[in-house]
Amino acid sequence: MSVAKIRLCVDQPLGPGQSLPLAEAQAHYLFSVMRAGPGARLLVFNGRDGEWLAEVAVADRRRGVLICLELVRGQAAPADLWLLFAPVKKARTEMIVEKAVELGVARLVPVASDFTNAERFRADKARAHVREAAEQCGALHLAEVAEAAPLARVLEGWDSGRRLLWADEGLAGRVSSPAALFAGLAPGPWAVLVGPEGGFSVAERERLRALPFVTPIALGPRILRAETAAIAALTLWQAHLGDWR
Ligand code: SAM
Repeated sequence: MSVAKIRLCVDQPLGPGQSLPLAEAQAHYLFSVMRAGPGARLLVFNGRDGEWLAEVAVADRRRGVLICLELVRGQAAPADLWLLFAPVKKARTEMIVEKAVELGVARLVPVASDFTNAERFRADKARAHVREAAEQCGALHLAEVAEAAPLARVLEGWDSGRRLLWADEGLAGRVSSPAALFAGLAPGPWAVLVGPEGGFSVAERERLRALPFVTPIALGPRILRAETAAIAALTLWQAHLGDWR
């Protein structure tokens, strides 16, 4: 059978002949939704061992077993890029998580800033969204998802070897060419910081401006929604310093 375009994220280690028992939801997706049957081939990955061609050995409505056949892509580390974001409304936060995965973020760090006004961030649900987004976009790594923490505490414990690109809405409208800005920046460990719907408080802005590892960036002349700002900032970073070059 031809290799389907299906990619499945599994937890087990991957290797030649490795048997992969499927969870009920995976069996349902493969055999009821995608109509795959014994002998069907698909791609599997676990975020650690690369991407493998696998074949359906057992296909039942509620369970199944795959067998690993051969390595298709070796594991590659993503760009060392984190996204710090203030959770916003549920659906929009889910979009931030999904787009961050598609844009190659290695770690998601939800931060509670002064004006964050969102329901509790569920890291477990975000990790499920990371897997789904990784299956869809062809990512080999699974972005880590930190538990939500106050922005002040995250900054207190910050490793200054990682630079922080701060999407500063206060710069909106200031003419600033990203190419010129990035020309002076070096690749390496970076993070992007995007604020909540209410933006950053005066105290946060003063604090961020004073930190030596922070680079403020304007994202054009208009005020973007948090999810748009996250996508825009990550895109600029990947295009100038990341894996889009
Ligand atoms: N309430 C804020 C205001 O009216 O100024 C807007 C906050 S905006 C909805 C959410 C976040 O997106 C901001 O905290 C910032 O991180 C980012 N952002 C939005 N537009 C931006 C821009 N033009 N330049 C830089 N960052 C921007």
